[in-house]
Amino acid sequence: MRFEIPAGARDILQTLTGAGFEAFLVGGCVRDLLRGVVPHDWDICTSARPEETEGCFAGQRIIETGLKHGTITVLKGGEPYEITTYRTEGPYSDSRRPDFVQFVSSLEADLARRDFTMNAIAMDLEGRLRDPFCGVEDIRNGVIRCVGEPASRFREDGLRVMRALRFGAVFGYAVEEKTAQAIHENRSVLDQVAAERIKAELCGLLVGQHVGTILRAYPDIFVQFWPSLGPLVSLEQHNPWHCWGGWEHTIRAVEAAPAELVLRLTMLLHDIGKPACKSTDENGIDHFYGHPAAGAGLAEEMLRALKFDNRTRERVVTLVEHHDVQLPLRAQVVRRWLNRLGPEAFFQLLAVKQADGMGQAHGLVKDRLAQLDEMRAKAEEIVAQGQCFALKDLAVNGRDVIAAGVSPGPEVGRVLSMLLEQVVSGVTPNEREALLNMLR
Ligand code: ATP
Ligand code: MG
Repeated sequence: MRFEIPAGARDILQTLTGAGFEAFLVGGCVRDLLRGVVPHDWDICTSARPEETEGCFAGQRIIETGLKHGTITVLKGGEPYEITTYRTEGPYSDSRRPDFVQFVSSLEADLARRDFTMNAIAMDLEGRLRDPFCGVEDIRNGVIRCVGEPASRFREDGLRVMRALRFGAVFGYAVEEKTAQAIHENRSVLDQVAAERIKAELCGLLVGQHVGTILRAYPDIFVQFWPSLGPLVSLEQHNPWHCWGGWEHTIRAVEAAPAELVLRLTMLLHDIGKPACKSTDENGIDHFYGHPAAGAGLAEEMLRALKFDNRTRERVVTLVEHHDVQLPLRAQVVRRWLNRLGPEAFFQLLAVKQADGMGQAHGLVKDRLAQLDEMRAKAEEIVAQGQCFALKDLAVNGRDVIAAGVSPGPEVGRVLSMLLEQVVSGVTPNEREALLNMLR
């Protein structure tokens, strides 16, 4: 096996073992090395008690925030390394956090408290592995398997449900059968998990390359923390645009979107308003009039419930609200939308419409997708040419309007908007003289 342990981690392992303690790399970093991926942090476990660890690093930069749980953070070359004393966890009376942690003397006991076999492998400085739960084999086969009895491990800590799905979506590993069954059967443990922690795992999951596989296999889990998804999961759509039901269409749209959180979240929620807006006409065709606006309202509530930040929430709501607008291919239409949403959100809207189209009946959307490409090219040209589509780009400003005799106040804004509209629609060039003439 090829591996490269950074000097900081190497130093720490040497210092601890030199002082007569056991010390290993453990958890995500060992797993990632075995997967052939560069680890993003390096966790160390040791037989040394926290005060003994502190003794080993006396005079160095130490952070004590995790002390209660046996973790000392040592800074080496500006990088933080977490060193945790071998420990087990007490009972979880609330599926949130252990009631207490208990320091233990054996590495095996420490590995046994960890969530999945792939995360329960330790490695020493020479690269020798300690792998009592056969995590190496599971990594080789791409399997996510609980350490110990799955149902009780999920009941101890509901977050593990989300971690399993996040690892599945990111690594493309299969969830082992008993582990998968326990996830479904114990999904109500998620009710005890803090919204922020669910959100963090959901964000990782959504940008995973294999997100579709997880959405397909675990709709019940998503409905558990977002009950409003329930009606979408069971939505049928009899409609020439759609060859799939609401959930499968949603999944395909998520998969088709670039791996950016805002876009993936928008695709997950874009049709959330459909169930409430469904009507069936005399020909048996389903319609969903008003679903973007209804969906924007629901998306807003859902994102608030999981405590998403304002920026992400507002952007996703805007995109859900506009995902179905018609965009005729004309420069003035592009300029108007660039003004309304701003360039960043407008280009995101084009990506959303593209992903939405790719999740629909294929033959019917080809023209629409080609049109979106043209629209993107046109918008890029307008932005690159510095064409005027916003008030700040207008060749006259409020002072000019006042100088032309309009009394200061709201009327100034109205006049400026009118002038902008003339420019955006191509009636007047964005030139000072032409605009002043028009004012007169
Ligand atoms: P990532 O690549 O996301 O950092 P990770 O496995 O390193 O993955 P961390 O949250 O950094 O995840 O946790 C480090 C280690 O702590 C895990 O590998 C696992 O051994 C253990 N662990 C973390 N969370 C839990 C949990 N909820 N239950 C049991 N063990 C856990
Ligand atoms: Mg980690």
